[in-house]
Amino acid sequence: MRKIALALGVLLTLSAFGALAADSAKPPTGAGKPEQLAFFQQRSIFTSGLRATHTVALTFDDGPNLHTGEVLDALKQMNVRATFFIVGRQAHRYPEMLARIAREGHLLANHSANHARLGTRYGADPDLLINEIRDVHDQIAPLMAPGEKLYFRAPYGYWKSAHARTLNADRELKHYVGPIYWDVGGEIAMSRDGYVMAAADWECWRIKWSAKTCAKGYLREIRRKNGGVVLMHAIQVNSAALVREVVPALIEEGYHFVRLDQVPQYRQYETPKDRPSAVADVQGKVPLRLSAVRTDKLPVGDLK
Ligand SMILES: [Zn+2]
Repeated sequence: MRKIALALGVLLTLSAFGALAADSAKPPTGAGKPEQLAFFQQRSIFTSGLRATHTVALTFDDGPNLHTGEVLDALKQMNVRATFFIVGRQAHRYPEMLARIAREGHLLANHSANHARLGTRYGADPDLLINEIRDVHDQIAPLMAPGEKLYFRAPYGYWKSAHARTLNADRELKHYVGPIYWDVGGEIAMSRDGYVMAAADWECWRIKWSAKTCAKGYLREIRRKNGGVVLMHAIQVNSAALVREVVPALIEEGYHFVRLDQVPQYRQYETPKDRPSAVADVQGKVPLRLSAVRTDKLPVGDLK
């Protein structure tokens, strides 16, 4: 199918602002099939329940590195707590930064040891998969408060249902809730008349947008959805500048900020402590897929 080139070389679907990263897997169909409650889920948890609640859960992926400190400084100044999805190999390099995240009241979460796309290779070798999750778990668990909840996000949002079975057989790792998806920050979208309507930070930096322009996309998507789990990264030169553009505006508009362990909707996925896991029908909403945006054709500069 030929794509129609629009005036700015930008594809847009104003009616369908779902958040789905361009490189993530197509969500499986068949919503409504019986799914195990509690433990790792067979597919990503797309529904946070935070939309339309004027509540935002900021999530920062792929750290820590040296730039994570700047993000922490910004959050501290604004008195906002967030969730950090940790990559194991980064944590090995920056253990001090990892400890600082926990010390400053943020929630540590698991984003795999090597940020690999957890595909068929990991399904064929359970140990390979378990090691990806356990490496991060062993680093973050000692820094977390007793009883603090465990969350996992799959790199690129990529997941296979068989992974849930493998990980749920592990005595410790079965306590994770996940994979956690996001509501906001999955990709760049623009309106027909050239307004930035949604943004994804890694794409913003790749096409050399300023933090100010990128923030417009984040803010408009958050306002349109009136809350949600927000995907950002804490590892780039511009990461803290983006936080400084987005967060004060949201505070001004009366948004509440929560960590993922304060998201009520996720409680249904927690491993029951005193009874075997229930099996129930979970109607996870599959987000609408946006047409891929041709980011190589997007304009740069201080966009509207
Ligand atoms: Zn990531």
